[in-house]
Amino acid sequence: MSRKLRLMIPGPTPLPPEVSEALARPMVGHRGKGFAELTARLHEKLQRVMQTENEVFILTSSGTGGLEAAVANTVNPGDKVLALVAGKFGERFRDLARAYGAEVLELHFPWGAPVDLDAVAEKLKRHPDLKVILTTQNETSTGVVHDIRGLGALAAEHGAVLAVDAVSGLGGIDLPADAWGVDILVTASQKALMTPPGLAMISLSEKAWAKVAECRAPRYYFSLPAAKKALAKWNTAYTPAVSLFFALEAALDLILAEGLEQVFARHRLLARAIREGVRTLGLELLAPDEAASPALTAVKAPAGVAVDDLRKLLLDKYGVLFAGGQGELKGKIFRMAHMGHVDRLDVITALGALEMALNELGHKVTLGGGVAAAQRALLGGAE
Ligand code: PMP
Repeated sequence: MSRKLRLMIPGPTPLPPEVSEALARPMVGHRGKGFAELTARLHEKLQRVMQTENEVFILTSSGTGGLEAAVANTVNPGDKVLALVAGKFGERFRDLARAYGAEVLELHFPWGAPVDLDAVAEKLKRHPDLKVILTTQNETSTGVVHDIRGLGALAAEHGAVLAVDAVSGLGGIDLPADAWGVDILVTASQKALMTPPGLAMISLSEKAWAKVAECRAPRYYFSLPAAKKALAKWNTAYTPAVSLFFALEAALDLILAEGLEQVFARHRLLARAIREGVRTLGLELLAPDEAASPALTAVKAPAGVAVDDLRKLLLDKYGVLFAGGQGELKGKIFRMAHMGHVDRLDVITALGALEMALNELGHKVTLGGGVAAAQRALLGGAE
């Protein structure tokens, strides 16, 4: 029997059968009428899922390409940019702005804590010429969700452009982009959007487009004016990943059929159940309850258990793949993703496997303890 793999990493995530089927469709010409119609439909569906009325561009690249497009099209060399860093992906956005010659100011927060809005307000006050704020919505390296609504209000007051990396949260965690004042929204296909890796999505507000008009940074593949020109004809500037477009539509249809509110509630419920389970096993969670990600849970390694040994046993024996820690959290945490095509029994499976593996590694926990706590949370959890 081929082994069953239970992917619980923050991307790529498991694909619904409808999405896998869409991937197998025969190839079509990307300059034809049918593909233009698909692009138009995708555009409307993406606007709904991204909760924006701004144009949405689909780029054939991973999420980092979307972040690069955000910076390359809005940041001039020497522009003052504020990077909010509370984990690996905050660092990545900062590094991108540095690569494009921005004068990057940084605010650091502990890995595992949310962005402190007072610190951001204070920094903005001291730098009236600050033009762009870079932040992460769901910091995948820590399982913390930042207060985008609060940041949107601060950015609006300051007149700065707020760019949000929502690569690992969009489609699983509520982010009313227009209502909260997000100027640049970036996401990617392979996480809560239940599509294979290879597409990035980006939308820009009018305020952000004004920065594009002034931008002199060099860019070619990621030129948003080029993407805009093509989109006017429901096209893309370069050859798109045609199969991924098919797959993305299947995934968006599933999300819209379930209903955005229900999708977000499902993620919150699963996160609560997994947190209850982990806590009941006597393990420590990295993120505080009030900033905990609905899509990903980071757990501190119990004393005496090597994260790599735990992950290896879980994968080799049980087919469960958790992520390890990144950067300064390497070896200190493991991360259980529950984003996209996930349901209640995925949580039970993950906790059940974790309990067995911990016992096998000599860290005794009550078998079924975490599972039972999660079951109780799931049964009581109609939101
Ligand atoms: N930002 C966040 C928050 C992410 O989780 C990831 C992927 N883990 C990225 C950016 C980078 O995306 P990609 O690997 O698709 O380039």
